[in-house]
Formats: sequence, structure tokens, C-alpha cells
Amino acid sequence: MKNDNTKIYQGFEQGPIRPPSEAYSLLIRVTRNCPWNFCTFCPVYKNRPFSLRPVEHVLEDIDMVARHVDSLRKNRDSRGIIDREGLNDLARKIPNTESQAFQVAMRWFSGGMRSIFIQDANSLIIPPPDMIRILKHLKKHFYWVERITSYARSRTIARIKDEDLAAIADAGLNRIHIGMESGADSVLEKVKKGVTKAVHIKAGLKVKKAGMQLSEYVMPGLGGKNLSKEHALETADALNQIDPEFIRLRSLAIPNTVPLFAEWESGRFEKCTDVETVKEILMFIEALDGIYSEIKSDHVLNLFEEIEGKLPQDKEKMTGVLQTFLDMDPNQQCLFQVGRRFGIFRQLSDMNSPRRLDRVEEICKKNGITPENADLVIDELMKRFI
Ligand code: SF4
Repeated sequence: MKNDNTKIYQGFEQGPIRPPSEAYSLLIRVTRNCPWNFCTFCPVYKNRPFSLRPVEHVLEDIDMVARHVDSLRKNRDSRGIIDREGLNDLARKIPNTESQAFQVAMRWFSGGMRSIFIQDANSLIIPPPDMIRILKHLKKHFYWVERITSYARSRTIARIKDEDLAAIADAGLNRIHIGMESGADSVLEKVKKGVTKAVHIKAGLKVKKAGMQLSEYVMPGLGGKNLSKEHALETADALNQIDPEFIRLRSLAIPNTVPLFAEWESGRFEKCTDVETVKEILMFIEALDGIYSEIKSDHVLNLFEEIEGKLPQDKEKMTGVLQTFLDMDPNQQCLFQVGRRFGIFRQLSDMNSPRRLDRVEEICKKNGITPENADLVIDELMKRFI
């Protein structure tokens, strides 16, 4: 692991991604990129070296944003708003070296300043005392925030002592996002996730024991055609043993920059069609049992935004949507796939709108999209959103 001991502060930094649910969070970068970086489906940090940022530099970032947040708060009117003129006045006084931090503070201010997300891919890899120092600094400046969250790898969490995790929770980290992707050892090994089902379960239970909320990401389609059933059932079994607060779905997409693309092209990986992925998600949700998690489908790549609800009471509602799609004829399925990916449909019932349906039919006609080639066209389209 490379420790970036550069003494000179390079200025305010932000990493490339955050979970969809952290769209309004303040992003604070503690490490750069991913210390693992081998997952064959993941394009985010490839060819970018991992490093730890010196804690002093992170604290300096926090101080800088805090100064701008303070001035924004002082200049707001009784409704909590700053008019454009007031904003322009503030912006004019900002030195160039602080303009990014000012933009970040402004976005956070307008988003309500309720949550903070610690970047990048596996922030809990830093020594617990450093994380606690950073969290306390955040809490000192932004005492009102309701949520501080981070991504973390299961393998890293499994190695942290329970008392250190509890101290991190006490210092303010109250939700962890884990990319479980799959609970099937065969799938985890194939995609080089660097973790086993047993470690995922151990890490998930440790997070809960420490008193933090847990959000587990699952990637439908990751097992391909061959391991689809195993992927669905083993992942459900792992989650049944953890009972996380959130289960989030993020469908597989394969841009040509990831190692999995070569496997797909050579035929070593057979990608599921949309219909096969829907069957897999149905099998997965049906196998979730005895848990109280909230299922979220908040990623732009997902075919169904409406597969959301609390277990166990919303299970039938969610499986009903999937079954309705599977019962449709191939032509209707194709229209929904295209309408959803072109942003014309958000849910199945949108197909009842003749105006929307006409637009989708027009797109299919113009681009020669049929049930036979719809998945090919959609694969190309999805790459743009990764
Ligand atoms: S651990 Fe996460 S960020 Fe790192 S390569 Fe795997 S999926 Fe990507």
C-alpha cells in the first residue's frame, strides 16, 4: 500500500464516484482510488494507483469547505436562501486555489447539508485512529449532519477489531456501503473479487454489531448464464444470514475497458439477456427469507426502478412486477426494455400511455430494434452510463 507522504498540500480533492444514494452528500476524499483494483467487471479505478492521503491534508480539505459553508450560512436570508447576486459576491472573493472547495460547499449547501460520504473505494483501510480523527473533525465543523457513510471492502472490515469498529461508529460513521456483488464463491472467484461468501458474512455481521447501518450492493447478471442460479441463491443465502438494512441492485454492464469484456468477446463469459436477468432477480428475491432489509433499485442501469420495498411485506409486490414482465410477449418485453433505457418509461404501467408507447415504437422502427437484437443495442447504450 502506498502512503502518500508528500508534505505539500496539493489542494482540495474529490474522487470519481459515490453511491447513487449519496448524490447530495459532501464528498471528502481520504484515500485515492482502490487498493484492490482486480475486479474484472469494474472500470472505475483501473490504471490509477492507490494511495493514502496524509490525514493533515484531509483535515485541510475539511477546514476549507467549512469556511465556505460558514460564509454561505451567514449570508442566507430568513428562508435559508442566498440570491444570485449574493452568491456572485461571495464567489468573486474566492482565490483560484479554493474555487473547487467553494463549488463543493455551494452544492452541499443547496442540497440541505444532511450527509457526508468518505471517498474512495475502501476508506476503512486507513488506521482506525486516523479515521476517528477525521470523523471527529467533520463532526466538530458540521455538527448537524445526520449521516456519515463510506464504501468498504468486506476483507478489510473482517480484519478490523470489533472495538475499533465500535469506536469508528461512536466517532460518527453510521453507514457502510459494501460491494458484495455476489454471495457465490464460484462467481466471486471468477470475477476476482478477492473475498469469499464467508468473509462477506463475517464483515456484514461485524458492521451491524458495531451499530452501523449496512448497505449491501448486489450485481444481477454477474454470474453470466452458467452461474446465474448459483449467483441468485447463494447471494440470497448470504444476505439472509446478515440481514442488512439495505440491499441495493446494480445490474452488470461491460464496457470495453474492463477485463471481463475480453472474456465476453471470446465466449468464455456468456452474458445474460435482460429477460434472463429478470428471471435471476425473481429467483433471488423469492429466496430472501427471514430478513427485514429494504431493497433499492436506485441505479440508472437497472431495468426496473420499481423493484423497491421493505421485506417481508413488499416481497410479493416486487416479485409481481418481475412476473408481469416475464408473462409479456417478446415484442412487449422489447418495447419496455427500449422505453426504459431511452428514459421514456420508468415503470411497467407507463406502457399504458399511448403517447409514450408511440415514441418507443418509433425508436424501434427507426433503429431496426427487434426482440432478437434488443439486448445487443441496449448493451451498447448501457456502456455510456458506466
Ligand atoms: S473493490 Fe470495488 S472499486 Fe475496487 S476493483 Fe473491486 S469493485 Fe472496483
